[in-house]
Amino acid sequence: MSKFIYNFSEGNKDMRDLLGGKGANLAEMTHLGLPVPHGFTITTEACHAYQRTLTLSSDLLTQLDASITQLSQETGKQFDSHDNTLLISVRSGAAISMPGMMDTILNIGLNDQTVKALAQTTNNERFAYDSYRRLLAMFGNVVYGLDEAAFDQVLTDIKRKNGYASDLELTAEDLKQVVTEFKEIYQTSDKGKFPQDPKTQLLAAINAVFESWNNHRAQVYRKQNHISENLGTGVNVQEMVFGNAGENSGTGVAFTRNPATGEKALFGEYLLNAQGEDVVSGVRTPQDVGVLKTEMPALYDQLAETAEKLETHYQDMQDLEFTIEKGKMFLLQARDGKRTAYAAVKIAVDQVNEGLITKKQALLRIEPDAISTMLHPEFDKEALAAHQILTTGLPASPGAATGQVYFTAADAKQASEAGHPVVLLRQDTSPEDIDGMIVSQAIVTSRGGMTSHAAVVSRGMGATGVVGAHELNVDYRAKEAKVKQQIIHEGDWVSVNGTTGDLYLGQIKTTEVTVKGDLSVLLEWAKEYSRMGVYTNADTPKDFQKALDYDADGIGLTRTEHMFFKPERLVQMRRLILAEDAEGRKDPLAKLLQMQQGDFYELYKLAEHKEVTIRLLDPPLHEFLPHDEKEVAEVSEQTGISTSKIKERVSSLKELNPMLGHRGDRLAVTFPDIYEMQVQAIMTAALKLANEGLKVAPHIMIPLTDSKIEMAWVRELVVNQIDQATKAAGVTLDYTVGTMMEMPRACVTADQVAEESDFFSFGTNDLTQLTFGYSRDDVGSFMPEYIKKGLLPADPFQTVDTEGVGALMKIAIDKGRQTKPQLPIGVCGEVGGDPASIEFFEQIGVTYVSCSPYRVPVARLAAAQAHL
Ligand code: PEP
Ligand code: MG
Repeated sequence: MSKFIYNFSEGNKDMRDLLGGKGANLAEMTHLGLPVPHGFTITTEACHAYQRTLTLSSDLLTQLDASITQLSQETGKQFDSHDNTLLISVRSGAAISMPGMMDTILNIGLNDQTVKALAQTTNNERFAYDSYRRLLAMFGNVVYGLDEAAFDQVLTDIKRKNGYASDLELTAEDLKQVVTEFKEIYQTSDKGKFPQDPKTQLLAAINAVFESWNNHRAQVYRKQNHISENLGTGVNVQEMVFGNAGENSGTGVAFTRNPATGEKALFGEYLLNAQGEDVVSGVRTPQDVGVLKTEMPALYDQLAETAEKLETHYQDMQDLEFTIEKGKMFLLQARDGKRTAYAAVKIAVDQVNEGLITKKQALLRIEPDAISTMLHPEFDKEALAAHQILTTGLPASPGAATGQVYFTAADAKQASEAGHPVVLLRQDTSPEDIDGMIVSQAIVTSRGGMTSHAAVVSRGMGATGVVGAHELNVDYRAKEAKVKQQIIHEGDWVSVNGTTGDLYLGQIKTTEVTVKGDLSVLLEWAKEYSRMGVYTNADTPKDFQKALDYDADGIGLTRTEHMFFKPERLVQMRRLILAEDAEGRKDPLAKLLQMQQGDFYELYKLAEHKEVTIRLLDPPLHEFLPHDEKEVAEVSEQTGISTSKIKERVSSLKELNPMLGHRGDRLAVTFPDIYEMQVQAIMTAALKLANEGLKVAPHIMIPLTDSKIEMAWVRELVVNQIDQATKAAGVTLDYTVGTMMEMPRACVTADQVAEESDFFSFGTNDLTQLTFGYSRDDVGSFMPEYIKKGLLPADPFQTVDTEGVGALMKIAIDKGRQTKPQLPIGVCGEVGGDPASIEFFEQIGVTYVSCSPYRVPVARLAAAQAHL
């Protein structure tokens, strides 16, 4: 018989897969001697068994009886005992934490009899009925699927009737009334009465937690966070401790460091006389944990000590859930705390400096993609100065975002799908809102604190977040929010500063940010610990400068065609293509030569001694030609060529499959003078810089090569131009001529191609296109279906297909290095900046990756992680 249940005294932190994160850590904390209420964990294996049969197996039921008996012995309390009632919580917990996505039920064991016993033994009737009404609402909603709003309505009505501002003012008599009305909600539903038997409650709760693994929000969360569907959840059954047992009781959440900024200081919130869900749901705005220092100094010290102990033990920032029952503290959970990218980087760097972790641990701890959220823009200072702050809330998740306001998740989702940048503005958020939160640039709430659902989720997603902006009065029915006299309607533009908590009306311009502080320290370490280089794809000095600011090692790909698309150049390019013969091409070529050499000069100058790889012209010529009558007329005017001649030429250059047609080095074969001009421009720029004292070694790259013989032909053309230029200048320059590897044929004959190439650089965009036979420009019509139906694990244009494209790359690398063992090999297609792909490139021996400037820091960290 499989062992489906582990007492907290049996597990440990390394058993997360079996016990879930919460269960494993409750066990670990029990061993550390921390005050954890007694309990046990039902394993994720039991969850798998449940998912197969949709019932709790007889083995599990037998073990459950034994565990309840043990729990009764440990606590000295009994289910259904009238003077010593055992009350328990049933809480979910998967191996990877999914905050708030699955279900929890507290106060199980209460019924019409035991509630009286509890009132008597605690001498606190209000507390007993408060606990019972909570059970009725939670159980009704989670187990029976009764509408939460119906329960809320009862509370709202009774508070309104008595003129109460908060739940705390409800008296024992009020709560008895609430209990009666809650029970009526059951009776008027098709579910029937609330089950009075504690064991029945327990079994139904366990069922419900297993079921909640597959609820909609959990599925969305897993998809968004790439969490496997196969993990399953554990179920933690634990003796209740009560934060709602009076004013010397309470409940709270604490982080061992600030999860928004990373600052080293105990951070958190608590509420007196409350149960767990009150803090996270944002229903009441909690107190800063610092206030506990004055309210209950001894408990604050105990909390601070526990925090320190746990952080040292786990070697990472922890997120703790605690409950104070009549002046005594208990721990209900510890886990690695979710944090913003800023905080993650600061904490990792600080912990290395404190000697708590190594540089390697620090590097492995940061999600490479999270870094890109740190490079998000900030509000332009001048533009900001022209705006008045509308209202201010708590700075829950840093960043600057502008968007249109929507009040419900569904409206936000719809607006985002229609292409609007969205700010989700709500009173508070709950896990049901996940669909809308995912698509929002910013999330703003009028209630809740720094650990409210909205705050935790916005930090986790890297969205800008402001919570607890009390002045905002949200009216869902009217779809508007009011601040003082100002009304914000659905669709209005607002700007949100998640770093300060400020909210503004209208759109505010944002500016770029640079890598500085802790991030630059971390990226230095990444460089130290990586093998592969990280280059950038850049076509303009501006892009290149951005990449250099991010410490790129050089340029891995300059797409020279992008230099031809400026209006004054396009005219010359068109004259070139439309010319009748070589003679007619001379003048436009000379003009383009002038322009191109200036471009190359700028790039080389910026690079100083870093490598710059320039690719010669790649796209089909017709891309430069006019597409409609109006453009034809314009070109005719600019060039003096008749419209009929232009149309004739356009139609002669038209191709059925242009991406497989007259492009890449095929252009060199038919129009050698274009490539000659480009090499001359490169050499003129390089020689000019040599004269100025900067020795540049040109790296020239040939696109679309498919054979050794073709490469040899183009190489000869290029080398002839280089030789002519250096001879005329009376100097020598180092240079290399390499090829892109983007044709499957070139990959499988790479040993031969390498004979004529000084380097390879994988153009995975074309290589993927040709390996799958997917037109890279047309995949949008079917790719999403393939991913949805599981026929592809991911879009292969974004994450390398290791089995197919990757196998060709490996063949090319192995064969290329048979010919030239030191052959440098890069990747400059889109996947060059993708962390998962980078991990694979490390394994197959790629020398460097090249990606867009903004991806450089992400790729750098991914390269280090791949090598560690
Ligand atoms: C590629 O094909 O991967 C590549 C980098 O070249 P381009 O995208 O310009 O075709
Ligand atoms: Mg290509």
